[in-house]
Amino acid sequence: LERDAVLRKKHNIHISGSLVPSPLQNFAELRSRYKCKPYLLRNLAELGFREPTPIQRQAIPALLSGRECFACAPTGSGKTLAFVCPMLMKLKHASKDGVRAVIICPTRELAAQTARECKQMAKGKRFYIKLMTKQLVKGADFSKLPCDILISTPFRLQFAIRKRKLDLSRVEYLVLDESDHLFELGLVKQVDSVVKACSNPSVLRSLFSATLPDSVEELARTIMHDAVRVIIGRKNT
Ligand code: ADP
Ligand code: MG
Repeated sequence: LERDAVLRKKHNIHISGSLVPSPLQNFAELRSRYKCKPYLLRNLAELGFREPTPIQRQAIPALLSGRECFACAPTGSGKTLAFVCPMLMKLKHASKDGVRAVIICPTRELAAQTARECKQMAKGKRFYIKLMTKQLVKGADFSKLPCDILISTPFRLQFAIRKRKLDLSRVEYLVLDESDHLFELGLVKQVDSVVKACSNPSVLRSLFSATLPDSVEELARTIMHDAVRVIIGRKNT
């Protein structure tokens, strides 16, 4: 579509993949195109987010259309909301059906920050959003804790899986955030074991990164199928 191409060009959005959904013109389209609940639009407005950032314009419709997504956009360009918003919309309501979504972050600080942002976006809805803390890893049996979204470093997840405290077989959404840092920090093995533990055949994986080293491209190729690839800014050569 000509209109989509114009919007992508304006915002420096480069895509590849089959049948990529139209980018968002604005946040209001979340409601008109995807029946977004009012609480989310209200939270966006309260945070003062008027326009979607380029990565949000393209990654949100891709994920809402049920596509896996490989997204690369610079630091500070709003990648967190790009996966949290469609995740909340897809999960719809809180449930006590085990862990439903997992966000892997390279460091505890980033995990804590991501958990805060999830809660901010979910305000007004009673989702169970859990940050995997040291106490949680050591103590609780996760199979008994209601948890819609679990945010963690790969290390803590792997530990809990090994101790058989965590069942990820029902996970529907898996996000690898800051993937380039996951590699830089040498966390590939732990990430692999989490990817394996999310054994639901219909799990939707996505991968976000600020840069595009070969390691990240390779991971994207091996773990995703028919993904929408979104790159913001420079064209990848
Ligand atoms: P990244 O993960 O790409 O480095 P973040 O998701 O951490 O970036 O977002 C960077 C900052 O931009 C955060 O403070 C976030 O609240 C803010 N932000 C996200 N989306 C928007 C938006 N649509 N409009 C304005 N600010 C936004
Ligand atoms: Mg980020």
